[in-house]
Amino acid sequence: MIDLRSDTVTKPSDEMREAAAEAEVGDDVYGEDPTVNELEARMADMLGKEAALYVPSGTMGNQIAVRAHTERGQEVLLEEECHTYKWELGGIAQHSQVQARTIDGGDRGVVGPGQVHDGYVEGDDHRPGTGLLVLENTHNSKGGTAIAPERIDEAAQAAHDHGVPVHLDGARLFNAATALDVPADRIVREVDTVMSCLSKGLGAPVGSMLAGPDEFIERARRIRKLMGGGMRQAGLIAAPGLLALENRDRLHEDHRRARELAAGFGDVPGLSPSEPETNIVLVETDEPADVVLDRLRERGVAGSAFGEHTIRFCTHWDIDDADIEAAIETAASL
Ligand SMILES: *Cc1c(COP(=O)(O)O)cnc(C)c1O
Repeated sequence: MIDLRSDTVTKPSDEMREAAAEAEVGDDVYGEDPTVNELEARMADMLGKEAALYVPSGTMGNQIAVRAHTERGQEVLLEEECHTYKWELGGIAQHSQVQARTIDGGDRGVVGPGQVHDGYVEGDDHRPGTGLLVLENTHNSKGGTAIAPERIDEAAQAAHDHGVPVHLDGARLFNAATALDVPADRIVREVDTVMSCLSKGLGAPVGSMLAGPDEFIERARRIRKLMGGGMRQAGLIAAPGLLALENRDRLHEDHRRARELAAGFGDVPGLSPSEPETNIVLVETDEPADVVLDRLRERGVAGSAFGEHTIRFCTHWDIDDADIEAAIETAASL
């Protein structure tokens, strides 16, 4: 199967398995796992934040961030197609008891400063007030768009003008950094906190990182425990995570392959691919997406339905040039 459903389907390399076997471990709930501590320190440094916290998933990282930043009943400003709002089971309502005020980020999912000012609600005797702005980069639902740091800065500054903190869902932050050719810490300079996944393009088997100020990470650590995410000898999974950080340099290959896939699909009647900015290709289909997906799957190619007439294909490190060629040939033969 040429599995283009997601960049989370990668299998850990032999080196990662060896690193797991040899990892120095301790009880991380006591802060005593040296491998986890090293991963957290490296990530904090890489993102230019005071501290970082290892969490089991990107979803938990975002949910902890919302909980740590807000008070019950407050409004959270989010782009209307963003993961934290759309793909996390309404977790912000369930865990944090906040309500969403959504912003239309257009084709690329970019939230403008004017939209932040317009969406801001000041707390008073009748209105709950805005507790947080959530941004996303790359924007998954908009096709992995890589949003320039200046756009993130502007939106963050608009929130800060009102004293509202900003969390960035950077599940694919390193894809954005690669596509824009800027260091990751530049993209997150103006945001207060950031979540980034090790388990996507970087290829780690498990885990995401939440980074921000010391005092925020202390609170986040308590909320992680509350949610049942306190892990014990987690160095076993953090060790492959450390190796995954070395995979940043190869993300541009995923991006090149995504462009090649889109170019090839563009020649297939009935398929209209987006122009990929990173490792995600959204394809509009004349026929229902499920019908096209079933036919592709019978012939050994998998993607995921993203709408009635939209399929998402992700490139990742288990996909090579031959897979891209074969996927294009398969689509052309349907
Ligand atoms: C995948 C993803 C997440 C959640 O990560 P999980 O580890 O799957 O929970 C959050 N945000 C975005 C943008 C994602 O693509």
